[in-house]
Amino acid sequence: MSLFRRRELLAVLAGLTAFGAGMGEAWAGPSKKSTKRQQNRKSIGKPTPPTLPTTRAKPKLVVLDPGHGGKDPGALGARGTQEKKIVLTIARAVQRELLAGGRYRVLLTRNSDTYIALRERVARAQAAKADLFLSLHADSHDNSDVRGASVYTLSEDASDREAAALAARENRADAVVSGMRLADKPDNVAQTLVAMSQRGTVNESRRLAETIVATFARNGVRLLPRTHRQAGFAVLTSAEIPAALVELGYLSNPQDEKLLTVRQHQLSLARALRASVDAYFGASVATRKA
Ligand SMILES: [Zn+2]
Repeated sequence: MSLFRRRELLAVLAGLTAFGAGMGEAWAGPSKKSTKRQQNRKSIGKPTPPTLPTTRAKPKLVVLDPGHGGKDPGALGARGTQEKKIVLTIARAVQRELLAGGRYRVLLTRNSDTYIALRERVARAQAAKADLFLSLHADSHDNSDVRGASVYTLSEDASDREAAALAARENRADAVVSGMRLADKPDNVAQTLVAMSQRGTVNESRRLAETIVATFARNGVRLLPRTHRQAGFAVLTSAEIPAALVELGYLSNPQDEKLLTVRQHQLSLARALRASVDAYFGASVATRKA
């Protein structure tokens, strides 16, 4: 059994255990994927030769995580724009962009207006053996002048007060919505960071974040000062998967709110994110074994 094949099979097995029945709808990817999964289910124990790769390199699996959903609307704009809707629309646009090149497989942690706990999002990416995890959000600030995108990676000590406050807001979703307590919040961040640094995931995540920042800047996406920040986001706590959380703009800022609802701007963001993923994997070919 090839390594790739075994990985696929394990992913499916882990997926079946972790997601249980009926999760297929929310855990949405391209239709190809579900066919593949069904094939795998039938052929467990008697693997068929891998048929997935059409290009020379194995397609990387990118998991896109549109924040919030269902009972949890996320940030709200002055004009009533809901973060959960904006980020899902943009995640779908990024998915289309990534699939168009034929270089990636793409899964969304949610593809409808449903609530999914933060830990479940991480678990899904892990079970699927994602090569990359990108969480998409839009922020809000008391000062409506504040605008621009920002990119976050996991950090144990949130020395930056703004970043810490943001992580608290994003993490709060679980506590408020599903009745889970933050104390029950998992993933001891310190432990995760140790595991991440052992595997090099911390550095890979930073490289990913810096790539996104550079690509956004090149593509004229407005950015916050000191754009790459670090904080204790529950959703970034997979030890194995390089991960970043992107705040695409501020719904509390009238210009950002408007832009985030404009199709053209949504597509620009999607293209910039696709270019970031391309650049990230392009550079990693030289430094990592496939
Ligand atoms: Zn958010």
